Amino acid sequence: MTDRLRLFAFNTGWFQCRPGYFIEGEEGDYLKGPVPSYLIDHPKGRALFDTGMGVRYRRTLADALPPNKFGLQYFEGQEIAARLRSIDVDPGSIDWVINSHLHIDHCGGNASLPNATMIVQSRELAAAQATEEAGLYEAVDYATGQPVRAIDGELDLFGDGSVRIVPTYGHTPGHQSVIARLSGGREVLLAADCCYTERNLDLMILQKAVVDREAGLSTMEYLARQRRAGAHILFGHDGRQWAGVEEGKPIG
Ligand SMILES: [Zn+2]
Repeated sequence: MTDRLRLFAFNTGWFQCRPGYFIEGEEGDYLKGPVPSYLIDHPKGRALFDTGMGVRYRRTLADALPPNKFGLQYFEGQEIAARLRSIDVDPGSIDWVINSHLHIDHCGGNASLPNATMIVQSRELAAAQATEEAGLYEAVDYATGQPVRAIDGELDLFGDGSVRIVPTYGHTPGHQSVIARLSGGREVLLAADCCYTERNLDLMILQKAVVDREAGLSTMEYLARQRRAGAHILFGHDGRQWAGVEEGKPIG
């Protein structure tokens, strides 16, 4: 616990795809993007934003995905519980898990956080429950027995404006993002999959994986406004941006 908010970033695995998956029509070699998870350490409690993949995605060097194959994987030690322990944070000390959405690479580590209450948009939970599909929504990841706080729209998590959950629909019916205000006043917007890469926002081009294009476009406009107002946006699976992110250290 701390006397002011601290934000930590971790990569809990890898997402491999062709550039056309981010920006339709673009060609080139397979790209490797991170599967981010963020620890928000606040004087009133600890929250995680997204938790990576479940254990069935764990690979070893011997059975790793070939570099020219679409998919997801992580290696031992990358899982969120291990990443927390690496900075002396007990996974049992996490009070809240905020899931951006319930795709398998965003809530697969929920099971390793026994004392957390999961916060999800109620429309996202409904979508997941209506769409059990391997590799997309799987109950084994999100129905792990902890209490669930289903919300509709915005939530000021600690009541002091420092951690705001905001709806960013489009990629899925109930996607949400987090705006964290650091102690110096700087705002960091944890976008997750409402926008996969910085280049999508620079070009204002929606990624292919969007279930509601109209909602997705208004989310992109919202992100653009936030960025113009000074927010630093961390994108969902952006390998280029992630190369400049220092993991496991407070983001300043
Ligand atoms: Zn997703």
